[in-house]
Amino acid sequence: MKRGQIFIVSGPSGSGKSTVLHEVFKNRGRMWFSVSATTRAPRAGEEDGVDYFFVEKDKFLSMIEHDELLEHAQFVGNFYGTPRGPIEAKLSEGYDVVLDIEVQGAAQVKAKMPDATSIFIKPPSFEVLEKRLRGRGTESEEKIAGRLERAMQEINDAYKYDYVVTNDSVERAAAVLQSIMEIITERK
Ligand code: ADP
Ligand code: 5GP
Repeated sequence: MKRGQIFIVSGPSGSGKSTVLHEVFKNRGRMWFSVSATTRAPRAGEEDGVDYFFVEKDKFLSMIEHDELLEHAQFVGNFYGTPRGPIEAKLSEGYDVVLDIEVQGAAQVKAKMPDATSIFIKPPSFEVLEKRLRGRGTESEEKIAGRLERAMQEINDAYKYDYVVTNDSVERAAAVLQSIMEIITERK
């Protein structure tokens, strides 16, 4: 069986990573979404074990201590990390593995797994990003301000990624992302 590939998908909060990935998942078989652990509270509609493993800070710190995370980072007041356990198994079962993680975590994964392909999802402009983030209606004003500040830093790191995709329309961005994934899986 052909081993799967790792795809790291990053981009400022509100750039549309979840939305675009959701589209791509509809069209690609044998692809697995890595469910992260986080200390942030669930949003309406988010399911434990599907969108994230929602854990208390103590539990998260114990996961770090027991080396259960492939990478981890803090993001606007919360911890986020990728459980190491299932990734190797999924890759050897031939699944492509998708990590939706921020830039510090992405750098940690790239350092450990240089074969991983990294893709940065960029909003068409900062104004559009702000509008999308507010329009989503999931964060307080204070958290939105923190996420926008972080977005300005993250956009400066886009050049470190193998591919940069602008999310102007969901349909177009999903088609581009899917093409990148197809090219990589065929090549390797
Ligand atoms: P992220 O996962 O990067 O934080 P989301 O996927 O949650 O971002 O998208 C943020 C908001 O922007 C959501 O309300 C989503 O519906 C909207 N959105 C995403 N992509 C587009 C797009 N291309 N055009 C308009 N709105 C979009
Ligand atoms: P959100 O709270 O909007 O779901 O995610 C906030 C940020 O954390 C996003 O940039 C998302 O990609 C990132 N993120 C989600 N899971 C992980 C993870 O396991 N590790 C790291 N480093 N970042 C993550």
